[in-house]
Amino acid sequence: MYVRKSRLLTPGPTPLLPAAVHAMAAADRHHRTSEFRSVYSGVIEDLHYFMGTRNGIGLFASSGSGAMEAAVSNLFSPGDEVVVCVAGKFGERWVQIAERYGLDSVILRRPYGESVAPDDVRTALSVHPDVQGVLVQSTESSTGVSHDVEAMGEIVGHTDAILVVDAITGLGSSTLNIDDWGLDVVIGGSQKALMIPPGLAYCSVSEKALKRAETATNPNFYFNLRKHIDAGPRGDSPWTPASSLILGLAESLRFVRQVGRDRMVRNAQLLARAAREAAGAVGLRLFIRNAIPAGAVTAIRPPEGMDSSEIVRAFRERFESIIANGQGSMKGQIFRFAHLGYFDFHDLFATVAELEMILQLLGHEVELGRGVEAAQAVYLEAVASEESGA
Ligand SMILES: *Cc1c(COP(=O)(O)O)cnc(C)c1O
Repeated sequence: MYVRKSRLLTPGPTPLLPAAVHAMAAADRHHRTSEFRSVYSGVIEDLHYFMGTRNGIGLFASSGSGAMEAAVSNLFSPGDEVVVCVAGKFGERWVQIAERYGLDSVILRRPYGESVAPDDVRTALSVHPDVQGVLVQSTESSTGVSHDVEAMGEIVGHTDAILVVDAITGLGSSTLNIDDWGLDVVIGGSQKALMIPPGLAYCSVSEKALKRAETATNPNFYFNLRKHIDAGPRGDSPWTPASSLILGLAESLRFVRQVGRDRMVRNAQLLARAAREAAGAVGLRLFIRNAIPAGAVTAIRPPEGMDSSEIVRAFRERFESIIANGQGSMKGQIFRFAHLGYFDFHDLFATVAELEMILQLLGHEVELGRGVEAAQAVYLEAVASEESGA
């Protein structure tokens, strides 16, 4: 009641890894030293492990959107046609960036809560044979929906176009076989599955994509992909790096290696399933329709007649828990909480228990414990399948 711990349950920023927070305090050193270079090149190497790719990786001092902009400014020219998959606020961001850089967008739009089907991408590519790229979110954090980027990679791989994937919340919460699936550009951000504060963006770039940088005519300077990709393995960055965040990232990536990249994903997927079952058990409907649910975040509708802002406010005022409202026109229609990165079952059980009480306090009839029980069942089932070696 009177003592409350502040908790971030949002799909970015996410809870911070304590070891990373401690490491960030040691930033009183120069970046052009052998010590720092070895940390930096180690981070690049560990990012290859985390992402599971041999493609070159660029690391930028910016939030995730910086790497989205880098992909567009380095790999395309004004007048290039691109297919943009739009099923939420982050898909809309692709449209804005593409427009700013003079690209000609063929927009494949689906209502919020749904996803763009790979077949629609296939059709668009055959109707518009000059398309140079396809821009998509692997996880659309604004709606809790995933795109089938494996199928899209297969389709785009047969063309000269490149597939550019915003996986800022997809990385670490869903399986992405970047090299096998032909995902030419895959973008991440530090404040999502990597458990450190906002301020770093990174992306992997295939040879097919990087070739385009040689002839693309859009302007870029700070976010030059080639410069970043070439310098990273030597422990350098073209400009002064965000040293504090790099030190934190080194610790986060150590944690990822300890847990294992696939188990980080499995953790998020299990929590996501538990969140969906819990929502159903307390009588709430998910926002998603006919789509693959995200591992990173779950979007839930409030009870009929209730504004989701009331739920978001109650989480903050009663428990100091920060969950997310809907963005844009979804505000008031949904609430979202995350389960990627430094999230565990304890966090989920507590979140669900809080939700049940909040619903009751807001006058919605709910049998306390039903949601928690549903989440517990997912946990116990996972334990049983692990112990039987499945
Ligand atoms: C968080 C996020 C971004 C990046 O937003 P920034 O505020 O620039 O870090 C982009 N796309 C998705 C899907 C995200 O979840």
